[in-house]
Amino acid sequence: MPSRNNTSDPGDDAKPGDADADAEPMTATSPPTSDNNHRDVVVVGAGISGLAATRGLVEAGKSVAAIEHRDRVGGRLWSPELNDQSGRVDLGATWFWPGEPRVLALAEEFGLPLHQQHLDGDATYHQPNVSQRIDGNPIDVPSYRFSNGAQSLAEAVAGVIPEGVIQLNTTVTSVRGVGPFELDVVEQANGSRTVITADHIVLALPPALAASNIAFAPPLPDRLHGLASMTPVWMGSTTKVVVHFARAFWRDAGLSGSAISHIGPMREIHDMSGPGGNPAALFGFVPNMTPGPEPTADEIRHQLVELFGADAANPSQILIADWRKEPGTAPDGVEALRAYQAFGHDLYQRPSLDGRLHWCSTETAVISPGHIEGALASAERVVSQIASSNISPSSLQGSHP
Ligand SMILES: Cc1cc2nc3c(=O)[nH]c(=O)nc-3n(C[C@H](O)[C@H](O)[C@H](O)COP(=O)(O)OP(=O)(O)OC[C@H]3O[C@@H](n4cnc5c(N)ncnc54)[C@H](O)[C@@H]3O)c2cc1C
Repeated sequence: MPSRNNTSDPGDDAKPGDADADAEPMTATSPPTSDNNHRDVVVVGAGISGLAATRGLVEAGKSVAAIEHRDRVGGRLWSPELNDQSGRVDLGATWFWPGEPRVLALAEEFGLPLHQQHLDGDATYHQPNVSQRIDGNPIDVPSYRFSNGAQSLAEAVAGVIPEGVIQLNTTVTSVRGVGPFELDVVEQANGSRTVITADHIVLALPPALAASNIAFAPPLPDRLHGLASMTPVWMGSTTKVVVHFARAFWRDAGLSGSAISHIGPMREIHDMSGPGGNPAALFGFVPNMTPGPEPTADEIRHQLVELFGADAANPSQILIADWRKEPGTAPDGVEALRAYQAFGHDLYQRPSLDGRLHWCSTETAVISPGHIEGALASAERVVSQIASSNISPSSLQGSHP
C-alpha cells in the first residue's frame, strides 16, 4: 500500500479536554417513536470495525442495532467471486502482517484458510526509457492472505451476531439531540425513514464521511467536526485493479509479479493468486492524487504486457474498484485529504457528547491505523468504553423535551 503522507496537523489547536468546548446545549427535537426502536447502542457501519464492536457489545449484554449502507457487510473488505467461480479476489484489503495479533486471532478463531503472499521470483521496475528486471523481490514483504478473500473475515464475524441486529441497505442520515439520540435511518429501496433512539452511538465509518454525510443537530463541536472533516480515508482515493488470468504465467519466467511502474495507470503491482497460484491474478494500485477518470481495460492490458510480456494480453477478467466513487467509503474531495497525522488523534480516543458518541473505524486507531488491525483495535476501545460507561437510561431524565 502507498505510504502515509504527512502535512500540517489538523488538530494543532484541538487540545485534549476541549472536545465539547464549542457544543451547543443539546435538546432532542422530537420524542422517541417507540420502545421497539430504542437500543442501548446504534453502530453506524458494518465494516470490520463496526462488526467487531457490535459483536463485543452484544456479548456485553447491550441491545444493539448495526446500520449498514451497503447490501453487504465488510465495507473496505470486499472480495467478489470471479466470473468463472474459481475463487474470490480482493478489491479492498488484501494482506495482514506479522505483528498484527488481532487479525490473526480472529482468523484462527473462525478457522479461516490463510496463505502466505507469493514472494519468489524477480521484481520489475519500469519508467519511460528504463525497464529493469531486479534480482529478487524488494517490493513485497512477508504477509498473510485470506484464501477466501478478506471479506470472509467480516462475514465470519457477522455470522456470530444475532439475526436482526445488522440492518443492510440502510443509511444513517441524521442524528438529533442527546440522551437518547435520535437517528434517522433511511432504507435504500424506498427511501422510507425510521427513527431509532439510542443511549450511545458508535461511528464505525471514516470520520470524514461521518462529518460530511450525517447531519448532527445540534452540530458536532467545531474542533471535532474540523478534525473529522480533515482526516483522510485510508485508501479512499485509490483505484484497485485485479486482473485474472488462466494461469500465473509470470512465475514460469521467474518473476514474482511485483513491479513498480511509471508507464501506465498502476503504480504498484503484486501477485494476487490464491494458494498454489490458483486462481491466478495480479493486482495494482492506481494512486489518484487528483480527481480524474478510472483506467480503461486497454490501458491496464497495455501496461501489463509491457511489464510481463505478451501472455498478459488476454486476461480472463479485469475488475476495477474506484474507491473514490463508493459513497459508503469516500466523501466528495477525498483525494485532497492528506493530513495523516490526524489518524489516531487524541479526540478520537475518548467519547464525545457527554460520553455517548464513540469514534470507531481504522482511522481513529492508535495501533496500526489504516489497517484491518487498526479497525479491530478501535472496536476493542469502544466496547470497553461502553461496557464500563456509567451512563444509564435513568441518568437521562430531563433530556427529553
Ligand atoms: C484498496 C484498499 C486496499 C487496502 N489494503 C489493505 C491491506 O492490504 N491490509 C490492511 O490491513 N488494510 C487494507 N486496507 C484498509 C482496510 O480495508 C481498512 O482498514 C478496514 O477495512 C476499515 O474498516 P472500518 O470498519 O474501519 O471501515 P469501513 O470498512 O470503511 O466500514 C465502514 C462501513 O460504514 C458503512 N457506512 C458508511 N456510511 C454509512 C451511513 N451513513 N450509514 C450506515 N452505514 C454507513 C459503509 O458502507 C461501510 O460498510 C485497504 C483498503 C482499500 C480500500
